[in-house]
Amino acid sequence: MNRATTIRVNEIFHSIQGESSFTGWPCAFVRLAGCGHGCLYCDTDYAEESGVLMSVEQTAKQALGYGAPYIEVTGGEPLLQPGVYPLLETLCDRKARVLLETGGFLPVDRVDARVYTIIDIKTPSSGVSEQNCIDNYAFAITSPERFEFKVVIASRQDYLWAKSFLTNQKLSGTCRILFGTVFGALEPRLLAEWLLEDRLPVRMQLQLHKYIWKPDTRGV
Ligand code: SF4
Repeated sequence: MNRATTIRVNEIFHSIQGESSFTGWPCAFVRLAGCGHGCLYCDTDYAEESGVLMSVEQTAKQALGYGAPYIEVTGGEPLLQPGVYPLLETLCDRKARVLLETGGFLPVDRVDARVYTIIDIKTPSSGVSEQNCIDNYAFAITSPERFEFKVVIASRQDYLWAKSFLTNQKLSGTCRILFGTVFGALEPRLLAEWLLEDRLPVRMQLQLHKYIWKPDTRGV
């Protein structure tokens, strides 16, 4: 099989979207295998496992088979695999509403324009905040309707860093921005109070699936 027509898949499952502007919607997830970015607070490190090699066609068919209103391609880091591009195109061609979540350290300029892309901005507690792909920000601002940014906060230091980072990168007031907490590391009430006090134009989110199911449950 041609390399670009295959993809390494960690899991495909049907769940409730737990994060993003689409929180609460039923969603089919395609979790691609592999990342290696090494975020200290990673909650999907099991995606580092090698996964199963599948054809793009088979992967798309399985995800579409759930009949969910949304399909999210995630990881691991989905943009590491060349096969992600034909997968996204195939899903879009079949009229699926497609979300992509990326760790934010690789460029997103090759992603099909029909995809809604969620880009992580890594804070200092991740240990990899120096590796955020800055070029993505100017690119996203040109089409704000198809991008949003996700910032995961573990401490007051992360929060203050994120606040000035968004200003410095001219992201405040442009694309949608969502702040969430590292589950179990920061009390959500504190983040809510900081956001209100500073009147930041960002939306707060919690990982809904970790409240519905046990926080370490896989495949949800
Ligand atoms: S980019 Fe995502 S999958 Fe990769 S290590 Fe960081 S949190 Fe985990």
